[in-house]
Amino acid sequence: ASSAKPLGLDASKLSIEKTKSPGSLGKPEELVFGRKFTDHMLTIEWNEREGWLAPRIIPYQNLSLDPATCVFHYAFECFEGLKAYKDQSGNIRLFRPDRNMARLNKSAARIALPTFEPTALIELIARLVRLDERFIPEARGYSLYLRPTMIGTQKTLGVGPPGSALLYVIASPVGPYYPTGFKAISLEATDYAVRAWPGGVGDKKLGANYAPCIVPQLQAASRGHQQNLWLFGEEEYVTEVGTMNMFAAVRDRATGQKELVTAPLDGTILEGVTRDSVLSLAREKLVPEGWKVSERKYTMQKLDEASQEGRLIEAFGTGTAAVVSPVRSIAWKGKTVTCGLAETEESGEIATRMKGWIEGRQYGDEEHEWSCVV
Ligand code: PMP
Repeated sequence: ASSAKPLGLDASKLSIEKTKSPGSLGKPEELVFGRKFTDHMLTIEWNEREGWLAPRIIPYQNLSLDPATCVFHYAFECFEGLKAYKDQSGNIRLFRPDRNMARLNKSAARIALPTFEPTALIELIARLVRLDERFIPEARGYSLYLRPTMIGTQKTLGVGPPGSALLYVIASPVGPYYPTGFKAISLEATDYAVRAWPGGVGDKKLGANYAPCIVPQLQAASRGHQQNLWLFGEEEYVTEVGTMNMFAAVRDRATGQKELVTAPLDGTILEGVTRDSVLSLAREKLVPEGWKVSERKYTMQKLDEASQEGRLIEAFGTGTAAVVSPVRSIAWKGKTVTCGLAETEESGEIATRMKGWIEGRQYGDEEHEWSCVV
């Protein structure tokens, strides 16, 4: 008798249907983030009775969904962003994909979508990336951005756990975030809108967290700033910057101790893979140079004081897209808080070294367990 237990995700059941009309590659230097996609996509259906069905790689194509599908009404959607890189020997590498799988499972679980076996999805993503390998530009700074996405697909306006879901992965070739070298950004400290709050879902990668950030982003842009610096609470704790985690390098007033500080994982910030990599590298390479590395709360007020007293050494955002993004200044309460860069400088020393160290591992210049050859 067959067991009624729903099936787990099984990479060995993969079927592949290749495209009959392969797309053109175009010029790598003309790539615009997230506009162009590869020939194929990975799709895996799930339903509560059977579990995960056989994974399929198929030609990139439209989805067909009933207008009553729950994703369109109640935002049953979560996603990930990670990259595949080509190294100098032509190997394809994923950077810490286990981290993205763990985060996707946590996001999915929070919105009553099914979880999956992380190693199975990494194996399936590897198959997709190998099949569409020709889309990964070889030059340094280029990569294939991967977008695993999970949606609830049950056709119902009833508010409840989706009885069916779709997990799919699409891939988009991308160029360097800063094609002509670092460009330091200016931030607007945002206190009139809140991105996330204690007990909320700001630490999950849900689509529903992103749409409400666009209007504040437009407002910051209208005043000449590239990103929002999200503050939280009456204390005005510094949390994240746009879609990046935020780091500040400061010198202690009393002791002169240099400290690299970032907000703690208290549920109000996304657990960035780059954030974790920066913290690990800082502990490995900066602590021996006398730095202190802290995950702790810090306020905009403290950042401003450090800036005024010349103790704010530098500040930068971190994320998969840009790796690190140096910050020139923060507009706050009608003033400009400068972040340690000389007018002619586009990056501080720590940001520059971090980018080099992380890219060294992403592109396999340094063989490291974070980089996984597929
Ligand atoms: N915060 C937010 C809100 C984000 O969307 C992202 C991008 N995933 C990050 C931080 C950076 O995370 P990661 O380093 O994993 O790209």
